[in-house]
Amino acid sequence: MDLLIPDKVHDESRQGEALLLEPVVGKNNGRKLYIESYGCAMNFSDSEIVASILADSGFETTSDFNNADVVFINTCSIRENAEVRVRNRLKEFAGAKSKNPGMVVGVLGCMAERLKAKFLEEEKLVDVVVGPDAYRDLPNLIEQVDGGQRAVNVLLSREETYADISPVRLNSNGINAFVSIMRGCDNMCSFCVVPFTRGRERSRDAVSIVKECTDLFNQGYREVTLLGQNVDSYKWKKPHPASPQPSPKERELETSSEVLSSGEDLGEAPKTVNFANLLEMVALVNPELRVRFSTSHPKDITDEVLYTIAKYDNICNYIHLPVQSGNSRILELMNRTYDRDWYINRIDAIRRIIPECAISTDMITGFCTETDEEHNDSVSMMDYVKYDFAYMFKYSERPGTLAAKRYADDIPEVVKQARLAEIVAKQQQYSFYRMQARLGRVEKVLIEGFSKKSNNDYCGRSDQNAMVIFPVTEGYKPGQYANVLVERTTSATLIGKIVE
Ligand code: SAM
Ligand code: SF4
Repeated sequence: MDLLIPDKVHDESRQGEALLLEPVVGKNNGRKLYIESYGCAMNFSDSEIVASILADSGFETTSDFNNADVVFINTCSIRENAEVRVRNRLKEFAGAKSKNPGMVVGVLGCMAERLKAKFLEEEKLVDVVVGPDAYRDLPNLIEQVDGGQRAVNVLLSREETYADISPVRLNSNGINAFVSIMRGCDNMCSFCVVPFTRGRERSRDAVSIVKECTDLFNQGYREVTLLGQNVDSYKWKKPHPASPQPSPKERELETSSEVLSSGEDLGEAPKTVNFANLLEMVALVNPELRVRFSTSHPKDITDEVLYTIAKYDNICNYIHLPVQSGNSRILELMNRTYDRDWYINRIDAIRRIIPECAISTDMITGFCTETDEEHNDSVSMMDYVKYDFAYMFKYSERPGTLAAKRYADDIPEVVKQARLAEIVAKQQQYSFYRMQARLGRVEKVLIEGFSKKSNNDYCGRSDQNAMVIFPVTEGYKPGQYANVLVERTTSATLIGKIVE
């Protein structure tokens, strides 16, 4: 079992959620799409892109797969149990398909990319298999299936960022939105399947990102989370109108020659926008728009990014900085490209430059050859940082990864589990400690809606990303900011009341 303390980027309660859209007037083709998503926020954001592409071809959405003409499942491959969950779900679709043989069943996302055409052999009811870079091809692929064929497109791209597609935002509270700023990953951490399933890293056009955030603000949204596997390596070079596009080889050789200094106008000259610049550009959309981002890789979290966060009140004081292990030998085997000292140096820089910053992490227990002493280094890292939240996992060997090829998965399941239980218990203590530190303080909370338990209470997030619950108060509604005095806490929630 993976144990995690939820936040919005990998929200366990959203796994398997179906997407529902307003019908597009005048475009109805009479067919209904059902799409559900698993895994990280990138996948949920991709499903909005898929829905947008198919809405444009006249599809309406339904939240009941029994009524659907096309059933899509957007999948995750990160750990074995994520794939098991998808296979079980496909079995449930089989019943609906037997009653409606014309139903098209498709597998999208990371599992589609990992298994490719093999999926069609393994899962007889699947008609279409589509990787994360091929969603524009979906209308054609559905047509192929309508013509009696089964269809596969798992081509990965070096360019596709879907920059021009405005995702339809569904199941949304109209207040928080995810904005994808890059795709893929070049890091090749040895345990991780993402570089194989989502392809090479590429950054999305900064102008289109700022435009999307501006449109969201104008529609009433008050918080954007900039998404990518490694957002702090974001780098986008504005093409000069007169200059030819570089070849892929040239692009690969390109170095960050000219970095746009913060706040500078993009103008006409070719300039490179790095993550600090992008954060600033989005922060400047409006001071009332909160900006969050995920995930940051420790190797790329520069002081420039930290100073930019410190400079703008609306860039939230919260950084998700996955450590994976606190031991330098294990980090090297994981190919994380930093060691324990580097990570501690980055934590110290965060504490120095943004003293109020909340920090969360990802940690893996029982990676290949990890000894008890090396596991203790992970525990002592938790003691050092006192993380606000953590996602904690047992190592799950993924076929095709560097670790699967090079190292034996030699830590017994019971040991992995015991180490996981130890860090989960430790994290509970530190989450509670961090929450308790907020007692008596006034938090600026963006009201998101009623709390899950009662319509007499509102819920929202503090700047540091803590969930805050407080009584509904006259004059305040979702989408507004409120100052909440913290009176009580659990290890995951702050509880209080609005003060002026
Ligand atoms: N790109 C992000 C990063 O580097 O932190 C996160 C990528 S991944 C979607 C989310 C987390 O899943 C990782 O940080 C890691 O802790 C965990 N993970 C990835 N592969 C895993 C594996 N094979 N076994 C267990 N956990 C894994
Ligand atoms: Fe996977 Fe590492 Fe890339 Fe994160 S940075 S997606 S863990 S390869």
